[in-house]
Amino acid sequence: QEKDYQFMLRTRSPGGFIPPQLYLTLERLSEEYGNHTLRTTTRQGYQIHGILKKDLKTVISNIVKSMGSTLGACGDLNRNVMAPPAPYKNSPEYQLAWEYADKIADLLTPQTGAYYEIWLDGEKAISAEEAPEVKAARQKNGNGTIFTDSVEPIYGTHYMPRKFKCCVTVPGDNSVDIYTHDLSLVVITNKKGELQGFNILAGGGLGRTHRKEQTFARAADEIGFVAKNDVFDLVKAVVATQRDYGDRTDRRHARLKYLINDWGVEKFRNKVEEYFGKKLKPFKKLPQWKYEDYLGWHEQGDGKLFLGISIENGRVKNEGDFQLKNALKKVIEKYELPTRLTPNHNAIIYEIEPQWQEDIEKIFLSHGVEINPDNVNHLTRYAMACPALPTCGLATTESERIIPSILTRIDSLLAKLGMAEETFVIRMTGCPNGCARPYMAELGFVGDSPNVYQIWLGGCPNQTRLARPYVDKLNIAELETFLEPLLVYFRDSKKKKETFGQFCHRVGFDALRTFANEYQPN
Ligand code: SF4
Repeated sequence: QEKDYQFMLRTRSPGGFIPPQLYLTLERLSEEYGNHTLRTTTRQGYQIHGILKKDLKTVISNIVKSMGSTLGACGDLNRNVMAPPAPYKNSPEYQLAWEYADKIADLLTPQTGAYYEIWLDGEKAISAEEAPEVKAARQKNGNGTIFTDSVEPIYGTHYMPRKFKCCVTVPGDNSVDIYTHDLSLVVITNKKGELQGFNILAGGGLGRTHRKEQTFARAADEIGFVAKNDVFDLVKAVVATQRDYGDRTDRRHARLKYLINDWGVEKFRNKVEEYFGKKLKPFKKLPQWKYEDYLGWHEQGDGKLFLGISIENGRVKNEGDFQLKNALKKVIEKYELPTRLTPNHNAIIYEIEPQWQEDIEKIFLSHGVEINPDNVNHLTRYAMACPALPTCGLATTESERIIPSILTRIDSLLAKLGMAEETFVIRMTGCPNGCARPYMAELGFVGDSPNVYQIWLGGCPNQTRLARPYVDKLNIAELETFLEPLLVYFRDSKKKKETFGQFCHRVGFDALRTFANEYQPN
């Protein structure tokens, strides 16, 4: 008899969009076939853990029939396309970011029928029609070099050398962690809000391997600007460049970031322009990036409201008096509300009529769910953790299960040092793959071995700068001894409004080490 192999399944949800019927299906499937929880991911999808192999077909076909998909949520191809989750209906830019996240996801969807043959017995039950310009773009062969002659016009016979990650955002909104993607697009409109084109960044990526210096986290570079009518050809050109020149001999060196790092931006841009058949225009000036989490109640701009809910560690569950999963089900079912998952593993429910607000609040509060962001713990609010043990096969130590206790310990330490109000971005992963993007955090924990983490410092609150490794191996039992001198130094020497990550970056690691070595606790 075959063993009870269990699987994790992840949705493809561009811009984090989860229609109500899909949420209700995922909720039911997680109860019937999963581990009774749902996991919001840091790429705006849902994961169900613990599905037995014999149940995979039932689960996947149910998802597809409920306007969902798992196609391309994993593997060496374009992954879930991210976009800012805020449903601002009166903002053409936000609407365009959603629209183009969908279109790029469609453009880069594999064309093979194998997915449907395997999981749906060949029945193609796609919910939404593909936009005609996307279809045309996929079938159009730019300058004669992008197309392959296989069934996959863009991916060719061998797909990509490695996973490929994209996002679309609007100027100023860095809820998507823009510097961490292979390809990022920024919507550029004119004063009337009409789309002009997109700023293009490329070559971000975080996965690395401990003590292998040839692997590293990298922030994306500014590549140029592309006019709106050319955007699909440009996306295809970037993908084709990585497809044809990305390293296929060493998976640890296969992401686009290594190609750009090895070539330099200019050579990369030239090659992309060869495929594209045109020159790129200069990158347009952008305002400063901000990180937004959109928690709590907001107007969406058309008279309706949206509500951002903090999901600790992204885990949607019922546990004792905390009944988040039941509350979400009740609200989404009763009012048929869509959800947008956020890149910080939170959820936004939207299209809420003002007269429903009171009842929705009552439902969450009676299920033990805090919806006022001011009452969410200040460290938890900005923290992220990957699932790690026991569900991720790559994990070398704990992440999701341990981070609540780590945040409590840091909170106590801050209180002891008279810094109870201080807050900063803390992220943790169970291995250096970096799914919760710890390399952009102000304080990053990257799993090394059981109870041992590499510590990264120096990122900033708006996620525009890579952190750097400060300690190679910290046993988590030593957390307070390690952190206290750094926090005291920060408390006593910071500039006005400076955050912990900004301070560590400004003073530098040598100064931090000198202070820590000379530190005498009271
Ligand atoms: Fe990702 Fe590693 Fe965490 Fe697994 S343990 S979820 S691969 S970061």
